[in-house]
Amino acid sequence: WKKIDLPSNSKDELSQMGTVYNHMIDRLRENFEKQEEFVSDASHELKTPISIIKSYSHLLDRWGKEKEEVYEESIHAIRSETEKMEHLVGQLLALAKNQQKENLQFASIDVVSLVQEVIRLFTVTYNRKIILFTDFHHLQLSCDREKINQVLYILLDNACKYSHDEVHIYLNKSQHEIEISIQDFGEGLTDTERSRIFDRFYRVDKARSRETGGTGLGLTIAQHIVDAHGGKILVNSEEGHGSTFSIYLPY
Ligand code: ADP
Repeated sequence: WKKIDLPSNSKDELSQMGTVYNHMIDRLRENFEKQEEFVSDASHELKTPISIIKSYSHLLDRWGKEKEEVYEESIHAIRSETEKMEHLVGQLLALAKNQQKENLQFASIDVVSLVQEVIRLFTVTYNRKIILFTDFHHLQLSCDREKINQVLYILLDNACKYSHDEVHIYLNKSQHEIEISIQDFGEGLTDTERSRIFDRFYRVDKARSRETGGTGLGLTIAQHIVDAHGGKILVNSEEGHGSTFSIYLPY
């Protein structure tokens, strides 16, 4: 072996490289663990509809030809669970896509007309009174129209699902950002619930959310999209009195 004389400052460089390397390994491990957790959560969510479909298909096989009511119930359950799975898979794909900023397609759009379009859709679908409060006829913003549409859809869908009265939308502009707030007068959230609703798969009441077709992914997707635009999403809520979800988008 030949002894190599290293320059005097090389020890420090090596130790610095070691620190950077350890940091990278920690980050990779953390990401890997998150990924594993995600796959396990997603599989768990898919397991429930799959086992319901399996049970009903057995029932159908055993009694479906003889008993009409078994046939009707089984077909209905299988169809509804398949729709839930379809929705969940769609949301999982949206989550994977929206984690990448480079997927955004920016263009100048009129936010007032976008909000009005979403309101029209929900007024018809939910037969609800949704009122827009704004001083503006037009508000131009550079953003990914389809993605911001998706955020509005998620927030308005929640406001309609988790409340029974009318829903208010406020559209405002400050020096650097556009604010869109969606206020409902529903059941609201406790402080603990409020701090967790943006977590993946989190639902305040799993049974109720399952009935309303919830996956616990909507708000996570909305937050990723708003983050990717350099904006923020905040929630203000009082238990028993309703919630206001606000998004702030820079322009
Ligand atoms: P979900 O598909 O279950 O609606 P979200 O991520 O959109 O998933 O919301 C997570 C949970 O937060 C919901 O299951 C619900 O319990 C709660 N939540 C969301 N929006 C509201 C709201 N406007 N009022 C009350 N609770 C809400």
